[in-house]
Amino acid sequence: MRRVVGLSGVTKEYAGGVTALREVDLDILEGELVGIVGPSGSGKSTLLHIIGTLDRPTSGAVEIAGFDVAALSDRELSTLRARHVGFVFQAFHLVPGVSALDNVAEGLLYSGLPRAVRRRRAADALERVGLADRARHRPHELSGGQKQRVAIARAVVGDPELLLADEPTGALDSASGASVMELLRDLGASGSTVAVITHDTEIADQLPRRVRLRDGAVAEDVTGSVTGGVTEDGAGAGDGAPPAVRDSVPHDVGAGA
Ligand code: ADP
Ligand code: MG
Repeated sequence: MRRVVGLSGVTKEYAGGVTALREVDLDILEGELVGIVGPSGSGKSTLLHIIGTLDRPTSGAVEIAGFDVAALSDRELSTLRARHVGFVFQAFHLVPGVSALDNVAEGLLYSGLPRAVRRRRAADALERVGLADRARHRPHELSGGQKQRVAIARAVVGDPELLLADEPTGALDSASGASVMELLRDLGASGSTVAVITHDTEIADQLPRRVRLRDGAVAEDVTGSVTGGVTEDGAGAGDGAPPAVRDSVPHDVGAGA
Protein backbone atom coordinates (compact mmCIF):
# COMPACT_ATOMS: atom_id res chain seq x y z
CA MET A 1 0.00 0.00 0.00
CA ARG A 2 1.15 3.47 -0.84
CA ARG A 3 2.06 5.81 1.96
CA VAL A 4 -0.13 8.92 1.95
CA VAL A 5 1.24 10.46 5.15
CA GLY A 6 4.78 10.07 6.44
CA LEU A 7 5.91 11.98 9.51
CA SER A 8 9.27 11.38 11.07
CA GLY A 9 10.61 13.05 14.16
CA VAL A 10 8.05 15.83 13.91
CA THR A 11 8.31 18.41 16.66
CA LYS A 12 6.22 21.57 16.85
CA GLU A 13 7.05 24.40 19.19
CA TYR A 14 4.80 27.42 19.40
CA ALA A 15 5.97 30.86 20.39
CA GLY A 16 5.77 31.14 24.17
CA GLY A 17 7.61 27.90 24.74
CA VAL A 18 4.77 25.40 24.22
CA THR A 19 5.93 22.13 22.70
CA ALA A 20 2.75 20.83 21.07
CA LEU A 21 4.33 17.82 19.34
CA ARG A 22 7.43 15.86 20.33
CA GLU A 23 9.27 13.67 17.85
CA VAL A 24 6.15 12.21 16.27
CA ASP A 25 6.61 9.34 13.81
CA LEU A 26 3.46 8.42 11.94
CA ASP A 27 2.75 6.67 8.64
CA ILE A 28 -0.74 6.48 7.19
CA LEU A 29 -1.26 4.19 4.23
CA GLU A 30 -3.67 4.56 1.36
CA GLY A 31 -7.19 3.52 2.34
CA GLU A 32 -6.62 3.63 6.10
CA LEU A 33 -9.18 5.13 8.49
CA VAL A 34 -7.29 6.42 11.50
CA GLY A 35 -8.67 7.94 14.67
CA ILE A 36 -6.50 10.48 16.47
CA VAL A 37 -7.42 10.55 20.12
CA GLY A 38 -6.13 12.06 23.33
CA PRO A 39 -7.05 14.61 25.97
CA SER A 40 -7.56 18.27 25.26
CA GLY A 41 -4.23 20.00 24.68
CA SER A 42 -2.41 16.79 23.73
CA GLY A 43 -1.60 18.09 20.25
CA LYS A 44 -4.31 16.53 18.07
CA SER A 45 -5.24 19.68 16.14
CA THR A 46 -1.60 20.64 15.74
CA LEU A 47 -0.89 17.19 14.31
CA LEU A 48 -3.81 17.46 11.89
CA HIS A 49 -2.69 20.93 10.79
CA ILE A 50 0.78 19.64 10.05
CA ILE A 51 -0.56 16.60 8.17
CA GLY A 52 -2.82 18.96 6.22
CA THR A 53 0.16 21.25 5.47
CA LEU A 54 -1.66 24.19 7.09
CA ASP A 55 1.33 24.50 9.36
CA ARG A 56 4.99 23.46 9.21
CA PRO A 57 6.88 21.57 11.90
CA THR A 58 9.69 23.18 13.87
CA SER A 59 11.78 20.12 13.05
CA GLY A 60 11.31 16.72 11.49
CA ALA A 61 10.17 15.56 8.06
CA VAL A 62 6.66 15.61 6.58
CA GLU A 63 5.74 13.78 3.40
CA ILE A 64 2.19 14.11 2.09
CA ALA A 65 0.92 12.37 -1.05
CA GLY A 66 4.54 11.73 -1.99
CA PHE A 67 5.68 15.35 -1.60
CA ASP A 68 8.34 16.50 0.81
CA VAL A 69 6.64 19.47 2.44
CA ALA A 70 9.90 21.21 3.39
CA ALA A 71 10.85 21.43 -0.28
CA LEU A 72 7.67 23.29 -1.24
CA SER A 73 6.92 27.02 -1.05
CA ASP A 74 3.77 28.21 0.71
CA ARG A 75 2.20 28.72 -2.67
CA GLU A 76 3.05 25.19 -3.80
CA LEU A 77 1.63 23.92 -0.53
CA SER A 78 -1.72 25.56 -1.17
CA THR A 79 -1.83 23.86 -4.54
CA LEU A 80 -0.95 20.55 -2.87
CA ARG A 81 -3.77 21.08 -0.37
CA ALA A 82 -6.29 22.04 -3.03
CA ARG A 83 -5.48 18.93 -5.06
CA HIS A 84 -4.87 16.31 -2.43
CA VAL A 85 -6.41 17.18 0.92
CA GLY A 86 -9.99 17.70 2.09
CA PHE A 87 -10.79 19.25 5.48
CA VAL A 88 -13.78 18.91 7.78
CA PHE A 89 -14.05 20.96 10.97
CA GLN A 90 -16.23 20.80 14.05
CA ALA A 91 -17.94 24.12 13.21
CA PHE A 92 -18.73 23.17 9.56
CA HIS A 93 -17.43 26.48 8.10
CA LEU A 94 -20.13 26.66 5.45
CA VAL A 95 -20.74 29.95 3.64
CA PRO A 96 -23.97 31.40 5.05
CA GLY A 97 -26.77 32.35 2.66
CA VAL A 98 -25.36 30.10 -0.07
CA SER A 99 -27.04 26.87 -1.18
CA ALA A 100 -25.69 23.46 -0.18
CA LEU A 101 -24.84 22.86 -3.84
CA ASP A 102 -22.78 26.04 -4.13
CA ASN A 103 -21.11 25.39 -0.80
CA VAL A 104 -19.96 22.02 -2.10
CA ALA A 105 -18.92 23.48 -5.48
CA GLU A 106 -16.69 25.85 -3.49
CA GLY A 107 -14.46 22.82 -2.86
CA LEU A 108 -13.55 22.93 -6.56
CA LEU A 109 -12.93 26.67 -6.75
CA TYR A 110 -9.22 26.25 -7.50
CA SER A 111 -9.63 23.23 -9.74
CA GLY A 112 -9.75 25.23 -12.95
CA LEU A 113 -12.96 23.44 -13.91
CA PRO A 114 -15.76 25.48 -15.47
CA ARG A 115 -18.65 26.44 -13.18
CA ALA A 116 -21.15 24.06 -14.80
CA VAL A 117 -18.81 21.11 -14.24
CA ARG A 118 -18.14 22.18 -10.66
CA ARG A 119 -21.86 22.29 -9.96
CA ARG A 120 -22.45 18.91 -11.58
CA ARG A 121 -19.71 17.33 -9.48
CA ALA A 122 -21.11 19.08 -6.41
CA ALA A 123 -24.50 17.49 -7.11
CA ASP A 124 -22.81 14.08 -7.32
CA ALA A 125 -21.01 14.67 -4.03
CA LEU A 126 -24.26 15.69 -2.31
CA GLU A 127 -25.79 12.50 -3.59
CA ARG A 128 -22.88 10.54 -2.09
CA VAL A 129 -23.59 11.99 1.36
CA GLY A 130 -27.32 11.37 1.02
CA LEU A 131 -28.37 14.97 0.58
CA ALA A 132 -29.38 15.15 -3.08
CA ASP A 133 -32.76 16.47 -1.99
CA ARG A 134 -31.25 19.35 0.01
CA ALA A 135 -29.13 20.88 -2.75
CA ARG A 136 -31.02 24.18 -2.75
CA HIS A 137 -31.19 24.54 1.00
CA ARG A 138 -29.03 27.15 2.65
CA PRO A 139 -27.06 26.29 5.79
CA HIS A 140 -29.61 27.80 8.21
CA GLU A 141 -32.25 25.54 6.67
CA LEU A 142 -30.26 22.40 7.50
CA SER A 143 -29.79 20.45 10.73
CA GLY A 144 -26.34 20.18 12.28
CA GLY A 145 -25.85 16.67 10.93
CA GLN A 146 -26.89 17.79 7.46
CA LYS A 147 -24.52 20.76 7.61
CA GLN A 148 -21.68 18.42 8.45
CA ARG A 149 -22.64 16.18 5.53
CA VAL A 150 -22.49 19.21 3.24
CA ALA A 151 -19.06 20.04 4.65
CA ILE A 152 -17.94 16.46 4.02
CA ALA A 153 -19.29 16.62 0.45
CA ARG A 154 -17.29 19.83 -0.05
CA ALA A 155 -14.19 18.13 1.35
CA VAL A 156 -14.46 15.10 -0.96
CA VAL A 157 -15.83 16.72 -4.12
CA GLY A 158 -12.33 17.01 -5.61
CA ASP A 159 -11.54 13.37 -4.78
CA PRO A 160 -8.70 14.20 -2.38
CA GLU A 161 -6.23 11.50 -1.49
CA LEU A 162 -6.57 12.43 2.13
CA LEU A 163 -9.57 13.51 4.18
CA LEU A 164 -8.85 15.17 7.52
CA ALA A 165 -11.53 15.82 10.10
CA ASP A 166 -11.07 17.68 13.41
CA GLU A 167 -13.83 16.70 15.85
CA PRO A 168 -16.45 16.43 13.09
CA THR A 169 -19.05 15.21 15.57
CA GLY A 170 -18.16 17.67 18.32
CA ALA A 171 -21.13 19.96 17.64
CA LEU A 172 -23.66 17.22 16.92
CA ASP A 173 -26.10 15.20 18.98
CA SER A 174 -25.09 11.58 19.33
CA ALA A 175 -27.40 10.23 16.61
CA SER A 176 -26.21 12.74 13.98
CA GLY A 177 -22.66 12.22 15.16
CA ALA A 178 -22.97 8.48 14.68
CA SER A 179 -24.32 8.94 11.17
CA VAL A 180 -21.53 11.36 10.25
CA MET A 181 -19.01 8.80 11.50
CA GLU A 182 -20.74 6.12 9.47
CA LEU A 183 -20.35 8.32 6.42
CA LEU A 184 -16.62 8.73 7.12
CA ARG A 185 -16.35 4.96 7.50
CA ASP A 186 -18.13 4.46 4.18
CA LEU A 187 -15.71 6.86 2.52
CA GLY A 188 -12.87 4.93 4.14
CA ALA A 189 -14.30 1.63 2.95
CA SER A 190 -14.54 2.97 -0.60
CA GLY A 191 -10.81 3.66 -0.64
CA SER A 192 -10.40 7.18 0.78
CA THR A 193 -7.69 7.71 3.34
CA VAL A 194 -9.22 9.35 6.39
CA ALA A 195 -7.77 10.74 9.61
CA VAL A 196 -10.31 11.87 12.16
CA ILE A 197 -9.78 13.51 15.53
CA THR A 198 -12.29 12.54 18.14
CA HIS A 199 -12.48 12.82 21.92
CA ASP A 200 -15.48 10.46 21.89
CA THR A 201 -14.07 7.13 23.02
CA GLU A 202 -17.17 5.26 21.92
CA ILE A 203 -16.64 6.52 18.37
CA ALA A 204 -12.89 6.05 18.51
CA ASP A 205 -13.18 2.46 19.69
CA GLN A 206 -15.01 1.56 16.49
CA LEU A 207 -12.26 2.83 14.22
CA PRO A 208 -9.89 0.28 12.68
CA ARG A 209 -6.79 2.15 13.91
CA ARG A 210 -6.29 4.57 16.76
CA VAL A 211 -3.33 6.82 17.41
CA ARG A 212 -3.34 8.16 20.95
CA LEU A 213 -1.48 11.34 21.79
CA ARG A 214 -0.30 12.31 25.21
CA ASP A 215 1.61 15.52 25.87
CA GLY A 216 2.40 15.84 22.19
CA ALA A 217 3.83 12.36 21.77
CA VAL A 218 2.36 9.18 20.33
CA ALA A 219 1.54 7.13 23.42
CA GLU A 220 -0.17 4.31 21.55
CA ASP A 221 -0.88 3.23 17.97
CA VAL A 222 -3.33 0.36 17.88
CA THR A 223 -4.88 -1.50 14.96
CA GLY A 224 -7.97 -3.65 15.46
CA SER A 225 -11.41 -2.93 16.79
CA VAL A 226 -11.77 -2.99 20.57
CA THR A 227 -15.49 -3.70 20.27
CA GLY A 228 -14.73 -6.98 18.51
CA GLY A 229 -16.27 -5.77 15.27
CA VAL A 230 -14.80 -6.91 12.00
CA THR A 231 -12.12 -4.56 10.73
CA GLU A 232 -11.67 -3.87 7.07
CA ASP A 233 -9.21 -6.66 6.43
CA GLY A 234 -11.18 -9.06 8.58
CA ALA A 235 -8.56 -9.04 11.33
CA GLY A 236 -9.61 -8.53 14.91
CA ALA A 237 -13.02 -10.07 14.33
CA GLY A 238 -14.85 -11.13 17.46
CA ASP A 239 -12.45 -13.93 18.28
CA GLY A 240 -11.46 -12.41 21.57
CA ALA A 241 -7.93 -11.75 20.37
CA PRO A 242 -6.45 -8.53 21.70
CA PRO A 243 -5.93 -5.75 19.17
CA ALA A 244 -2.50 -5.66 17.59
CA VAL A 245 -0.27 -2.91 18.87
CA ARG A 246 2.11 -1.50 16.34
CA ASP A 247 4.87 1.02 16.62
CA SER A 248 4.09 0.96 20.26
CA VAL A 249 5.95 3.59 22.20
CA PRO A 250 6.65 3.47 25.92
CA HIS A 251 4.14 5.47 27.87
CA ASP A 252 6.71 7.58 29.61
CA VAL A 253 7.71 9.46 26.46
CA GLY A 254 5.77 12.51 27.62
CA ALA A 255 7.66 12.69 30.88
CA GLY A 256 8.82 16.13 31.75
CA ALA A 257 5.58 17.81 30.71
P1 ADP B 1 -5.73 19.43 21.03
O1 ADP B 1 -6.27 19.61 19.64
O2 ADP B 1 -5.34 18.02 21.34
O3 ADP B 1 -6.63 19.98 22.08
P2 ADP B 1 -3.78 21.42 20.23
O4 ADP B 1 -2.98 20.85 19.13
O5 ADP B 1 -4.84 22.39 19.87
O6 ADP B 1 -4.35 20.24 21.14
O7 ADP B 1 -2.79 22.14 21.27
C1 ADP B 1 -1.62 21.51 21.77
C2 ADP B 1 -0.86 22.51 22.67
O8 ADP B 1 -0.37 23.58 21.88
C3 ADP B 1 -1.74 23.15 23.73
O9 ADP B 1 -0.94 23.34 24.88
C4 ADP B 1 -2.13 24.47 23.13
O10 ADP B 1 -2.38 25.42 24.13
C5 ADP B 1 -0.91 24.83 22.31
N1 ADP B 1 -1.24 25.61 21.09
C6 ADP B 1 -2.07 25.25 20.09
N2 ADP B 1 -2.11 26.17 19.12
C7 ADP B 1 -1.25 27.16 19.53
C8 ADP B 1 -0.83 28.40 18.95
N3 ADP B 1 -1.29 28.80 17.76
N4 ADP B 1 0.05 29.16 19.64
C9 ADP B 1 0.53 28.74 20.84
N5 ADP B 1 0.19 27.59 21.44
C10 ADP B 1 -0.70 26.79 20.78
MG1 MG C 1 -8.14 20.36 18.96
